[in-house]
Amino acid sequence: MKPIFCPKCGSPDIHPAMGGMLGTYQCKKCGYVGTLIIQKEFIKTMDNETNSLEKQTKS
Ligand SMILES: [Zn+2]
Repeated sequence: MKPIFCPKCGSPDIHPAMGGMLGTYQCKKCGYVGTLIIQKEFIKTMDNETNSLEKQTKS
């Protein structure tokens, strides 16, 4: 299972809503409900963090 994050507040406290049907998720922190979630490995905008992680991994 991939780590997912709320697109609204960035909290990792996301749980499938409605039994996970329709790919809908709910954020327990801010109450966001929707199909748009952030999967950590697909984040492209956080280049600085990604680069630092890659450096740590390689070295
Ligand atoms: Zn949230």
